[in-house]
Amino acid sequence: MRADEETLERDAESHSTGQCSRPYEVQPDLFIRCKSRVKSKCPSCAELYRGDWAAIARSGVFDGPVQNFRFYLLTLTAPSFGRVHRVPRSPDAPARACGCGLVHTVADSGLRGVPLDADAYDYAGQVAWNRDSGLLWDRTRRRIRDRWDSTEFFIVREWQERGVLHVHVLLRISRAESPDAAVLGEAARTAVAASRVDGTIVGWGDQSQCDAFRADGDGARTIWYLSKALNYVMKDTARAELGGRNRAWAHLARLEAAARSMRCSVDCVPRACSSRVHSSYGARSHVVSASRRTQHRTGWSFTGLTRTVQRRLRKEWIDSNLASPPSREDPIGVHVQWAEERLAARYRRAMGARTGRVP
Ligand SMILES: [Zn+2]
Ligand SMILES: [Zn+2]
Ligand SMILES: [Zn+2]
Repeated sequence: MRADEETLERDAESHSTGQCSRPYEVQPDLFIRCKSRVKSKCPSCAELYRGDWAAIARSGVFDGPVQNFRFYLLTLTAPSFGRVHRVPRSPDAPARACGCGLVHTVADSGLRGVPLDADAYDYAGQVAWNRDSGLLWDRTRRRIRDRWDSTEFFIVREWQERGVLHVHVLLRISRAESPDAAVLGEAARTAVAASRVDGTIVGWGDQSQCDAFRADGDGARTIWYLSKALNYVMKDTARAELGGRNRAWAHLARLEAAARSMRCSVDCVPRACSSRVHSSYGARSHVVSASRRTQHRTGWSFTGLTRTVQRRLRKEWIDSNLASPPSREDPIGVHVQWAEERLAARYRRAMGARTGRVP
């Protein structure tokens, strides 16, 4: 059994257990999933979401002629908006002095990412960067494709403790034009964009990394890369990540205030604007996305797998496996949930084995 098949099996087992923790009753006795993406709100729905994207990620690595491509994992971060406390993530990490003069231990995790000097910290700059980071990624993506036209992408956006986004990107480039990982990483890191709101030039920070990985003959390592990137999906709000830490809370409150008072578009009147950008530290991007199939491109998934396709196949299966539509006399809402769970698991297994196209 290949490493990816083992992962699929494990996925399938974990999916077949959980049930939505807060289903909505849309009509008497008919329930639908809450579809939460946040693990703390509904582990089952968040896992379904993660699993759907994991299947899409894998289908861009394993479901095609991998020998014709090179694969990369690229991480891009935001620039600095002021110095923050450095707190180690594990007890084994080498002790290093923090800018505050202390040597922190893991016990100080509440300070991780918190500014040394909140009054000098560039809160407005940070929320504006979050706002413009989608555009910056778009310019980065175009720049990469200008140089390596065959590139396809799978991107995961993660919150850092300081309340700023950073991105992990899986890239697939045709072997015939595939660059050195360092060259690719540098081309990405030095991309810039001009903010549509205020014309500011935005760019990435210095902390970036780009590594090539093999999809053939080294499956276990690839899976490790993929699951590393996708586990970030589960932490898809800064609040979920940072909540409950006192000093971090004060930091986030200032970030929220900055996000409320910035303009999210040229016409925005901040206090009167209802865009959720103002309540998510300036961010508007989806947590996960992948390049789409067009007339000239395969898109990230070799098989054309998207969340729309996944939802359609799930619905078709449910429709064809239920004798009659749900009604008050014949309530099947909870049954639908179980069917959805089982289908998701089976579907993922099938996708892992499949080499042809999704119908
Ligand atoms: Zn749920
Ligand atoms: Zn410190
Ligand atoms: Zn606005």
